[in-house]
Amino acid sequence: MAEYTILKTEGRAKRAVFDTVHGRIQTPVFMNVATAAAIKGGLSAGDLRTIDTQVALCNTYHLHVRPGDRIVRELGGLHRFMKWDRPILTDSGGFQVFSLAGLRRIKEEGVTFHSHVDGARIFMGPEESMQIQSNLGSTIAMAFDECPSSRADRDYTQQSVDRTTRWLERCKAEMQRLNALEGTVNPQQLLFGINQGAIYKDIRVEHARRISEMELDGYAVGGLAVGETHEEMYDVLDAVVPELPQNRPTYLMGVGTPANILEGVDRGIDFFDCVYPSRNGRHGHLYTDRGTVRIRRACYETDPRPIQEDCGCPVCRAGYSRGYIRHLMKADEALGLRMCVMHNLYFYNHLMQEIRDALDAGRYGAYKKAKLDALQEEEKG
Ligand SMILES: [Zn+2]
Repeated sequence: MAEYTILKTEGRAKRAVFDTVHGRIQTPVFMNVATAAAIKGGLSAGDLRTIDTQVALCNTYHLHVRPGDRIVRELGGLHRFMKWDRPILTDSGGFQVFSLAGLRRIKEEGVTFHSHVDGARIFMGPEESMQIQSNLGSTIAMAFDECPSSRADRDYTQQSVDRTTRWLERCKAEMQRLNALEGTVNPQQLLFGINQGAIYKDIRVEHARRISEMELDGYAVGGLAVGETHEEMYDVLDAVVPELPQNRPTYLMGVGTPANILEGVDRGIDFFDCVYPSRNGRHGHLYTDRGTVRIRRACYETDPRPIQEDCGCPVCRAGYSRGYIRHLMKADEALGLRMCVMHNLYFYNHLMQEIRDALDAGRYGAYKKAKLDALQEEEKG
């Protein structure tokens, strides 16, 4: 089991370090999403080191479909495949199976569905998900769960959560078996369980208590940020996080905006991930400490300033102007996407550094309030 050490607390917020076989993770942390072993927008593993990324997040379903997890294993596992030596978390494929893949059938054993690439029939259950993640050799594997719709009724949600608990027991047993095999890519692979239950707080709390007894390496809260309001999400976190083991890291899956992250940290979350910074970057929506810059706007045509004057990212430090980046985006130059995604991921990574510094200094409450106020201001150009 990896070592998780809490350095400081403020209210329920935690500042900790998580020591893994691929190095130490300083939390709270934002994981950078590299779905198919690459950041969309053309950033390499070397670029991620430059912008202080601590953890890359790769997708089990996508890599299983293409190029195939056995191919990744043959090439030495994900770390060697993408030349990234820091921690990698792989999600279980569950979320994609339930959101992307067509025509699925759920049974106790697992789910049958069709590949979004070539339509091929695929079966995935807890054992298959663990086998794929073991072939990928990630630092942290996620349990295979069902992510019921936030509109699912109470009866369905309860049944689904009960099945997710049974699946978690099977994931744990299979992970132990795989880690003990000779030739396993990462025999110290960790397993995080996932809390589900839509917005039914009592179902979520009971589920959190049940999975807490299973002595997992970490615990995630899943199935949020899928259509419920921010207030509903915070209510669920207020109810669930205190029920999870305090001596293990917590992970809020797929969340979110800078404001969501500030609120999540306040409620005891260690790990975050979200496609917003890279996706918004590709659309030319750039985060700054003084609000969003929509770089395609005409007002930036002759703007000589960098995206943000005091930003430490490679793009701003090199002094590329808003006018130049706007031109690249308008001309569909790949360099424009790359610059925008690099700045945005740096912004998120740097936000987490500020959060950790504020926690270290015992002034998180004041920092959070000032940051939220600043984020609400819109850049006027
Ligand atoms: Zn920048």
